[in-house]
Amino acid sequence: MRKRDDEERGKTMQAIVYHGSRQLTLAELDVPKPGPGEALVRVQAVGVCGSELEGYLGHSSVRKAPLVMGHEFCGVIEGLGPGASGFLIGDRVIANPLVSCGTCDRCRIGKGNICRQRQIIGIHRPGAFAEYVSVPAANLHAAPAGLDAGVASLAEPLAVCIHALKLGMRPFEDAVIFGAGPIGLLTLQAGLAMGARRLLVVDRQPERLAFAETLGAEIATPDRLEEACERVFPGGADTFIDCVGVQATREQAIRLVNPGGSVILVGLGQDESLLPMNHAVRQEISLIGSYTYSDADFAQAAALLARGSITGRNWMTACSLSEAPRVFADLADGTARFSKYVLIPSEGAR
Ligand SMILES: [Zn+2]
Ligand SMILES: [Zn+2]
Repeated sequence: MRKRDDEERGKTMQAIVYHGSRQLTLAELDVPKPGPGEALVRVQAVGVCGSELEGYLGHSSVRKAPLVMGHEFCGVIEGLGPGASGFLIGDRVIANPLVSCGTCDRCRIGKGNICRQRQIIGIHRPGAFAEYVSVPAANLHAAPAGLDAGVASLAEPLAVCIHALKLGMRPFEDAVIFGAGPIGLLTLQAGLAMGARRLLVVDRQPERLAFAETLGAEIATPDRLEEACERVFPGGADTFIDCVGVQATREQAIRLVNPGGSVILVGLGQDESLLPMNHAVRQEISLIGSYTYSDADFAQAAALLARGSITGRNWMTACSLSEAPRVFADLADGTARFSKYVLIPSEGAR
């Protein structure tokens, strides 16, 4: 670590750097300079994402060390690069971390989330596990006024859920959700806000299921799923949302969904799965991949948070930035008490 003298003070910052499988360190890095069109954001809160846990374990094909991760954040603008517009210094913001090119064929049909040159803050460029992060101003949204920074940082994972629900679930219908992690719990709350009748959440861990139950879900463990389905949905369910993404959840979803139903695939647990595809063909089951969100989904997530329809109570907790190595280790070892951890890089931010 470099020694700070008076002149240097303010130019360096604390950040959590990923160096390889299970290696995270607190480091002193230069504060990024906002480039053209970019804003420098002082990070008030940044969520730890399940995909980053995979990255931490060395399972991510896209996260390459050394890297500052962190893509779910809320903060205050402290600097603006040349030509950055739409926001002022001092504005409290949340950021859509997906930077699309705006010119490729996917972007032109309004699908920036599958842009052929997409970049994600915290994957392809330095992220927000730091006191400061530089973000294209075009990717910023105003943080809902008066909302706790940690809750505001849920806009990103919530946008993932809103996008997935819109791709395959009709309002006022029933659905089964695999996974009671942060994405599963947010999908549950967004689904209820969308008018879902009954939502059944499936997870192996009883503590996680308890969070889902407090939020209004029917619950089941995977070994009891069939009987729970029969009890909760006598006519079966038309939609299964897989927020886990492993062999077992994908296979169960395809086997149990109603003929003509949809399986929305959100979780990225495993790349390869062996699935009953002839069954999917004969039953006309739609398999729908869902990845990130559009800017409109992101704005809707912010609005849902502003309305107070989403809560992190019971299942979310805050820690200091320096606690990140321990938080990741606990999450990896399955000893974490909470489902969602939010890091607080700047003091007095909440
Ligand atoms: Zn995420
Ligand atoms: Zn593009």
